[in-house]
Amino acid sequence: GAELRFEDVEFGYDPRRPILKGVGFTVPAGRTVAIVGPSGAGKSTISRLLFRFYDVNGGRVLIDGQDIRDVTQASLRASIGIVPQDTVLFNDTVFYNIAYGRTGASPAEVERAARLAHIHDFIMALPDGYQTTVGERGLKLSGGEKQRVAIARTILKDPAILLFDEATSALDTHTEREIQANLREVSRGRTTLVIAHRLSTVIDADEILVLEAGRVIERGRHADLLVAR
Ligand code: ADP
Ligand code: ADP
Repeated sequence: GAELRFEDVEFGYDPRRPILKGVGFTVPAGRTVAIVGPSGAGKSTISRLLFRFYDVNGGRVLIDGQDIRDVTQASLRASIGIVPQDTVLFNDTVFYNIAYGRTGASPAEVERAARLAHIHDFIMALPDGYQTTVGERGLKLSGGEKQRVAIARTILKDPAILLFDEATSALDTHTEREIQANLREVSRGRTTLVIAHRLSTVIDADEILVLEAGRVIERGRHADLLVAR
């Protein structure tokens, strides 16, 4: 795993209108840091900066000590595995959807990733259904199952950094818990940045930052933040 570091990052889509105001954190190799905060706080902006959709106006973003301004977008995409809120799946089998993005993966590797994400039973299913040969349920994948496909795809890619960007926000409470448990399993030992809007979804992060209007207003472990609030 790699170390990810935001150093005093300043950013505005319009530089005269700052959105992130001195945001700093370090995700040590193999650890998990979470950023929580209300809608509009700047969480998605952080993930866009990480992929260099935009460059910072001040401060730096570093991966293993290297300023990402010296890294191409293509290479960033290769080293960051994102599990987004809404996963776009192709109209093809779950197997293909997992394998996509890692040409050269062997079927055994794809199956292993599917097992880790607990989606192996659906490996020949089509996400949107209309193939009824996969058992009695054989129709559409649920939202949670689609997220499992996204998780398997990301594991297969074996990226240096994992980014969970509101990965469970669109799910119902019960499914959200299941998918979170899976995210915790697959992120163990990997450098992981979690973006979420609720504190309750990031309980075992090594550090949690509370972002409000582009500033880190609190930081600590889950238990510390609960006491502080
Ligand atoms: P969050 O993910 O925490 O909901 P965002 O990072 O999406 O917050 O947005 C932070 C602020 O930046 C908001 O005020 C939002 O309106 C603004 N913003 C987000 N994306 C853009 C954009 N592409 N252009 C201009 N302003 C944007
Ligand atoms: P997500 O959190 O899934 O990224 P957002 O609502 O933050 O969703 O952004 C969805 C898209 O809309 C992004 O491509 C973003 O750049 C754009 N966007 C978000 N807020 C604004 C804004 N205030 N002005 C312009 N574009 C925006």
